[in-house]
Amino acid sequence: MTDCCAAPGLMPLHEGLEKLVTETPVVTESESVALEDCLDRVLSDDIISPVNVPSHDNSAMDGYAFQFSDLKHHSILPLAGQSLAGHPYQGTMPSGHCIRIMTGASIPEGTDTVIMQEQTEPSDQGITFTKKPSKPGNNVRRAGEDIAEGCQVFRKGHVIKAQDIGLLASLGVAKVPVVRKIKVALFSTGDELKLPGETLGHGDIYDSNRFAVSAMLKRLGTEVIDLGKIRDDRSAIREAFLEADQRADAVITSGGVSVGDADFVKDILNEIGHTSFWKLAIKPGKPFAFGKLPNSVFFGLPGNPVSATVTFQQLAAPALHHMMGAKRPPAIELPATCCTPLKKQPGRLEFQRGILSTNERGEAEVVTTGSQGSGILRSMSMANCYIVLPASQGNVEAGETVKVQMFDKPLM
Ligand code: AMP
Ligand code: MG
Repeated sequence: MTDCCAAPGLMPLHEGLEKLVTETPVVTESESVALEDCLDRVLSDDIISPVNVPSHDNSAMDGYAFQFSDLKHHSILPLAGQSLAGHPYQGTMPSGHCIRIMTGASIPEGTDTVIMQEQTEPSDQGITFTKKPSKPGNNVRRAGEDIAEGCQVFRKGHVIKAQDIGLLASLGVAKVPVVRKIKVALFSTGDELKLPGETLGHGDIYDSNRFAVSAMLKRLGTEVIDLGKIRDDRSAIREAFLEADQRADAVITSGGVSVGDADFVKDILNEIGHTSFWKLAIKPGKPFAFGKLPNSVFFGLPGNPVSATVTFQQLAAPALHHMMGAKRPPAIELPATCCTPLKKQPGRLEFQRGILSTNERGEAEVVTTGSQGSGILRSMSMANCYIVLPASQGNVEAGETVKVQMFDKPLM
């Protein structure tokens, strides 16, 4: 992302990200977990295949196994027995014969080729080939053809997906070496905040950030320590920071980092550790704080719900990935035709919320979710992507091509 035209005095997103990644330590402790418990965990070691996959030469078809060279002298091969999946042929293969074989069954010694049953006709004398196989090895899957014993299957830092668990199981791996879960303490600040279920007083709002951030933290595979909502009170906030720092590897707060509030939170954070308050050249999400406490790192998200989500996804999440030693590919950005006009002033990189779909020609199209205020959480909820507009960009007209960044849907 280029921020060449970012407003003066604001920090480009990539610069913020670089600082976070350089200054966030990587957790090195690891543990061994059962295969069924390793979803979304980060590998602490390379995985080397302990076996060949497939483990033995086997048939890719239901048909007959035979020695290819036998076809020079015979056109009918008498049947000598059978090989089924899990029940290999036991005897010694008589020359000039064939074996009934099923998909996945072991290729008997003394045979090298399989003909599919549709290309044969059985008779009293044996099996007649109606179509001659082209070469030895036809329809045979070789041992180690998919994965050879000793080869690297996953690298350290890989984040384990559902299908990876299947692959690990197919290698016979029962225990998986993973980085220990990182602990993230979370609290929100603000006298106006009420809990869902409580009644709102005049001027109150519900604390939504903590719930959204907590859910995203769980998706990231972290252990969340939820310290609740804390009053805008010097000693309460100080206590919360001290407790969070004692218990967690990372501390995340929402609210209290914009200009109005920053002063006393800033004082507390700088009494305990060192924190910088950033004004980022992104919209939404201008204020963001990053700090180092005695035992943990600190990410201060802005209070506005959309800003909190965007800064979490764009800054805190990559820093936490780094902390977990996770090597995740960067978010995929795709071009799409924007079917609605978008308002934008040049100056900041914007993450507008969009709904991406494909039209009847299979082309990607995106529309805005509507009003883009940083407090409008519904814009985030309706969206399935960000429309990423570079700093230099002004208004977008309907029909122009824009870049979109898909939200994660980590089923696989
Ligand atoms: P602040 O950054 O504390 O000045 O808050 C900016 C705006 O975000 C204010 O309108 C707050 O009421 C709102 N806000 C702060 N914290 C939260 C929260 N946890 N959930 C929802 N909105 C919040
Ligand atoms: Mg506040």
